[in-house]
Amino acid sequence: MSNKELRCPICKKPVALDTPDVPFCSDRCRVLDLGAWASGDYKIGSPVLDPDVLEELDDAQWKAEQRNREN
Ligand SMILES: [Zn+2]
Repeated sequence: MSNKELRCPICKKPVALDTPDVPFCSDRCRVLDLGAWASGDYKIGSPVLDPDVLEELDDAQWKAEQRNREN
């Protein structure tokens, strides 16, 4: 079964795959995550560039752009 449970990286709550802010549970957590990156809370120990992660980031960015255009 491909019923993978997704959890919000910020508050660890389960996230439905049709949530507009996937992988975050809400816009609030999405913004918190961006804020954490911006303030350097995430310490990257090694420059590992996982293609899957990059793809996810690209996808998230694209979705954010689409959302901005709609608003
Ligand atoms: Zn959350």
